[in-house]
Amino acid sequence: MATAHYADQAWHGAVTVAENVAVARDTYRVRFACPEIARRVTPGQFVMLRLAQCNDPLLGRPLAVYDVTPDEAGRPYFVDVVYLVVGKMTRLLTEFFAGSRLEVWGPLGNGFPPTPAEHLVMVAGGIGQTPFLSLAREYLGQRTYGDPPRQVPRAHRVTLCYGAKNAEYLAGVEDFRKAGVTIQLSTDDGSLGHHGLVTELIEPVVERSAWPCRIVCCGPEPMLQATAAVAERLGLPCLVSLESPMACGLGVCFSCVKKIRDREGNWDYRRTCVEGPVFRAEDVEF
Ligand SMILES: Cc1cc2nc3c(=O)[nH]c(=O)nc-3n(C[C@H](O)[C@H](O)[C@H](O)COP(=O)(O)OP(=O)(O)OC[C@H]3O[C@@H](n4cnc5c(N)ncnc54)[C@H](O)[C@@H]3O)c2cc1C
Repeated sequence: MATAHYADQAWHGAVTVAENVAVARDTYRVRFACPEIARRVTPGQFVMLRLAQCNDPLLGRPLAVYDVTPDEAGRPYFVDVVYLVVGKMTRLLTEFFAGSRLEVWGPLGNGFPPTPAEHLVMVAGGIGQTPFLSLAREYLGQRTYGDPPRQVPRAHRVTLCYGAKNAEYLAGVEDFRKAGVTIQLSTDDGSLGHHGLVTELIEPVVERSAWPCRIVCCGPEPMLQATAAVAERLGLPCLVSLESPMACGLGVCFSCVKKIRDREGNWDYRRTCVEGPVFRAEDVEF
């Protein structure tokens, strides 16, 4: 698999924050000006983000590109990232208001391939919905991404199955609704949608579907594993996007490796940053 090109083509530089707003509990959307990344990114790719002039934390953090916002002339200009506050960097990031500087490199990773899908079923857990807004817009024919813009055959339907701890943590549901995505929600405490696991939503969606389904999934590993098992039982193709912690994002440090099986059933370590983060579910050794 050719991998080097993802990192080789990454842009690296300082960017200016345009806005940084709360979108759900402990969850923010930061928008920064970066036409170099906005023009080239495709759904499922990510950026490494580092707080400029800050040595603690020293390392950047991987964050999926949520979407691209155009300038007044309609050209891809801003990059949007949605992040959940879990630790040092994400906590400090909430204080980077408009005008602050960030260090960024990307776009990185393989992202989702433009495989035709009649009904795309996106399964997200926790903050795992972030790679899916741009993917949905692409499959619904609203936007193109990449340079040159890649063409994706239009899907009949795109469904988001999205689960979180409770209703306060569900972020960006309105963005998906506005994009024309069919939404199925679940919460662990039953405060909104199905009371239970997001993976329990998949089978009814597939059973009721008038079209063949393809599944894409992002979230915590136990959820990815459960989704992979459902997909296997239903005989459906499934891609998972891994959220392995990583240090460089460029394929150098090997801190993000994951056991991935080859076609003969043997496994080897693959780097989530340059050989992923998107893998075929059946290839991942959970
Ligand atoms: C390709 C990719 C895309 C991602 N996209 C997003 C996104 O769009 N939005 C978002 O909020 N997060 C995303 N993440 C996860 C994000 O990178 C981490 O939450 C972030 O690095 C935490 O940094 P921190 O300094 O705030 O926390 P730290 O201080 O580094 O860690 C705080 C706590 O979180 C745990 N932790 C750190 N990273 C992870 C992780 N990846 N998974 C599980 N636990 C972790 C640590 O073990 C620790 O307990 C993505 C990860 C990857 C690999």
